[in-house]
Amino acid sequence: MDKPTDQSRMDRIVSLAKRRGFIFQSSEIYGGLNGFWDYGPLGVSLKRNLKECWWHDMVAGHDELSTPPGAPSSYEMAGLDCTIIMHPQVWKCSGHFDLFHDWLVDCRESKRRYRYDHLQGRWAAHRGKRVFVVTDQSGEEAAPHTVQKAQKFFGLRAKQVDEIEWDGGLVPLAAGVAAGTLALTTALGPDASEPGTLTDPREFNLMFETRIGALAGGDDDRAFLRPETAQGIFMNFKNVLDTSRVSVPFGIAQIGKSFRNEITPRNFTFRSREFEQMEIEFFCKPADSAAWYRYWRDRRWNWYLNLGLTAGKLQLREHGADELSHYSVGTADIEYAFPFLADGEFGELEGIAHRGDFDLRSHMEGKLVRRDGQLVVELGPDGKPRHRGSGKDLSYFDDATRERYVPHVIEPSAGADRAVLAFLCDAYHEDEVPDEDGKPRSRTVLKLHPRLAPLKAAILPLVKKDGMPEVAIDLYRRLKAHMPCMYDEKGSVGRRYARQDEAGTPWCLTIDGQTLTDKTVTLRDRDTLVQTRVPIEECVDLLRERLR
Ligand code: ATP
Repeated sequence: MDKPTDQSRMDRIVSLAKRRGFIFQSSEIYGGLNGFWDYGPLGVSLKRNLKECWWHDMVAGHDELSTPPGAPSSYEMAGLDCTIIMHPQVWKCSGHFDLFHDWLVDCRESKRRYRYDHLQGRWAAHRGKRVFVVTDQSGEEAAPHTVQKAQKFFGLRAKQVDEIEWDGGLVPLAAGVAAGTLALTTALGPDASEPGTLTDPREFNLMFETRIGALAGGDDDRAFLRPETAQGIFMNFKNVLDTSRVSVPFGIAQIGKSFRNEITPRNFTFRSREFEQMEIEFFCKPADSAAWYRYWRDRRWNWYLNLGLTAGKLQLREHGADELSHYSVGTADIEYAFPFLADGEFGELEGIAHRGDFDLRSHMEGKLVRRDGQLVVELGPDGKPRHRGSGKDLSYFDDATRERYVPHVIEPSAGADRAVLAFLCDAYHEDEVPDEDGKPRSRTVLKLHPRLAPLKAAILPLVKKDGMPEVAIDLYRRLKAHMPCMYDEKGSVGRRYARQDEAGTPWCLTIDGQTLTDKTVTLRDRDTLVQTRVPIEECVDLLRERLR
């Protein structure tokens, strides 16, 4: 059998996710809604476990009395849960209202819409006719798509495709237009039959808009669904400071839904229009901020590794100076080699940004811009602030040093859905295991970290008689008090193991004839397939210990 391409691996992961109830398309019976996904019974547990691990490791389990390795000092952590709709001025001062946009192009022929920076293409010629063939596909699918398009455009049969002359490789459409080496009039759109159907790019704000109140209508009623959870934290910086006795350095964490009206949602849940973020805003003294930035970058990197992501598929990428936001001193992305990407490409899981005092100052003074290396309030044509800040004092008085300053912020911002997708892709394995008769049987297994696995154990009576179900049900009830587990007596034991392997359950406990005589059960390990006999009375403590 050919080694499957990564795209077919991705297709099988998507199919498993649906077949086993991890992830479904939203509103599927009405044809689905592009960019929106629902989590099924196994998926909701996986996602909750992931968020719970994050919350525990970053917030609830944090020991503020000790200095973690690599940290400049000890620090405190607090949590928040803010609203999705906030005062519209929040987005004006944060910059999202003016700047949170992508460029889109429309196709006049197909009526399809594309993200300008997602289009790439290459020159093709045949018998004196030349065209720039554009594709909206990424990774390994892009080049074959341009071949198909060129074949159709030049009216060739399959065996004639070798007659097409290609001039250079795939280049971003936007780069070619900006460099003046091609015009949109010569570009053959991804779904067009003739060149010149793509419109000039235009800006499109990614925030979903809504209206507040029954009599909504005026501009004052306009509100937005948050495109990030971070701003809710800045809104409550002073509340947390005044009510919870934290002192700088400290972090505030939040998990919650965010919404972005992405032009082209794609790659399963990777780019969705509704998704969840797990964000920390960490407030520190300006002089210590570079050291805190390094601490959080490394801490977050290790979090993914400790939960089992394959090191070779993860990449830590420091942004170059040209990529940094105007206020940022440093930003690093933690990226994963998703199977839908071409070899050597990575997709962002989390960004860790040094944001300086940009956010707190914006909400005090008004929307800021950088002028001559300084952050200053942006002025409108009337000479007044373009977007007025709250005027509230968000500075901090340091009792120890008797100094007043606006804290600097380090922001580790992760996507819960992208992390779930990365852990699913990484855990997905196909291998061969011996069946009950010792013959090799192919299996699909999710090698999820036990902390992430939706079910921690399955309890299986070997047969549905001889008192085995009663013993198994008793063990199931005792274990269930401590961890999610299931009881399954349907089908051959081999099929039951296979079902648990696909669900990512790390351990199976089988009750057999020997259990009835010596009170031991078989403990089967999902990854090593090793089976050991364990006294039934020790099972609960043993699995609890392993989960710790
Ligand atoms: P991208 O460049 O992929 O659009 P971004 O740089 O805009 O991402 P951030 O604004 O830094 O993303 O958001 C922080 C995190 O939120 C991302 O690292 C990602 O995990 C998650 N995220 C952002 N947009 C989406 C989306 N459309 N769908 C799912 N997760 C997302």
